[in-house]
Amino acid sequence: MLTILLIASSSCKRKRTETFENYVVVVSFDGFRWDYADLYEAPAFDALAAEGVRAERMIPSFPTKTFPNHYTLATGLYPDHHGIINNSFYAPELGGLYRMSDRKMVENPDAYFGEPIWVTAEQQGMRAASYYWVGSEAPIGGTHPSYWKSYDGSVPYMDRVDTVIEWLKLPVKKRPRLVLLYFDEPDHSGHEYGPVHPEMGVVVEYLDEVLAYLRAEIAELEYGDRVNLIVLSDHGMASISPDRYVYLYDHLKPKWVEHILGGNPVSLVDASEGSEDSITHALKDVQGVTAWLENEIPARLHYGSSDRFPDLLLVADSGWSIGAGRDASVYTGGAHGYDNAFSQMHTIFYAAGPDFKEGYVQPAFPNVDVYGIVARLLGLKPAPNDGDLSRVSGMFSTPD
Ligand code: AMP
Ligand code: ZN
Ligand code: ZN
Repeated sequence: MLTILLIASSSCKRKRTETFENYVVVVSFDGFRWDYADLYEAPAFDALAAEGVRAERMIPSFPTKTFPNHYTLATGLYPDHHGIINNSFYAPELGGLYRMSDRKMVENPDAYFGEPIWVTAEQQGMRAASYYWVGSEAPIGGTHPSYWKSYDGSVPYMDRVDTVIEWLKLPVKKRPRLVLLYFDEPDHSGHEYGPVHPEMGVVVEYLDEVLAYLRAEIAELEYGDRVNLIVLSDHGMASISPDRYVYLYDHLKPKWVEHILGGNPVSLVDASEGSEDSITHALKDVQGVTAWLENEIPARLHYGSSDRFPDLLLVADSGWSIGAGRDASVYTGGAHGYDNAFSQMHTIFYAAGPDFKEGYVQPAFPNVDVYGIVARLLGLKPAPNDGDLSRVSGMFSTPD
């Protein structure tokens, strides 16, 4: 009896140690719509789904833009709670505009609330690395990931993979257990050509090669079978057209508006004193745009409660564009930022590795759950967040 107990306890212990030593690599391909791998040739994505998990869709947070969603993926918080409420917004307490092109702001830790997963890891004694993840260029909570890079979109994708593999080949003490890796395609091409276009097939095929190369390099690692790989994105892409354009000043009097920030298809409006109702009233019956006062924003969007939110939210209807310029001809190709209920904004989540089931199809789930997934895989104590692991626990092959 004692022998059996000893064997049982030692195998339990070994199992726990193995789980503890697993690694996580999270890859984001910006703007990869939920159905691109079906629309285009993507054998490496298909293989990942067959060997692991594929979500029917992952639902981004509103607004379906890059910065809010990457930082939601990192923190498990809705944009209202993590502070990055759009790609550009006015931050009254910082006395300035946050814009993704403003390096000083992007690197300012006070712009970011909540606890990103790399801070959770580092503060619990685990090394993390980030190749361009939104927020990782700022010392949030006084902490950078052990390894990180300043954004430079011109670095070739395969070189990024090589650097990640170098990090994973470091001696155990220096090696990151969590690696985050970002690519700005297929978003860039999606804007240019729209989501359904032969050029998108070319881009997706190239990203598929990048994924295949990353997987092959991970498989070569001495501990490759202990790496959990997650491949996801921040939002989808919708076709736009000059025929579906609302020139805002066809309806609004310039004196009603102090500032419009953000652009198409989501704009944050600072109204002149007392003009809020004039704006909502003027846009009430206009096809292609919806205007909401802070307290009218539907609860499902989890939006408008931030101190950084001005007076009004304008959102173009699905596939429409809005703007403050007369020229409609620029609204071609693709856009995102719309209501996250719009299916074309939905995105991907794939995962494979020792802690994931094989060939499992995960029902659609919101991207606030990703932080908890990564924390669970690494055995980290998660910071408070908006996710709910019970929605996604069916994807794991290993018990808690
Ligand atoms: P958007 O499509 O407007 O939501 O933004 C996507 C763009 O964000 C991409 O084309 C990237 O070039 C850019 N981007 C992503 N991460 C960063 C970063 N850390 N710093 C600056 N720009 C970034
Ligand atoms: Zn994006
Ligand atoms: Zn984009």
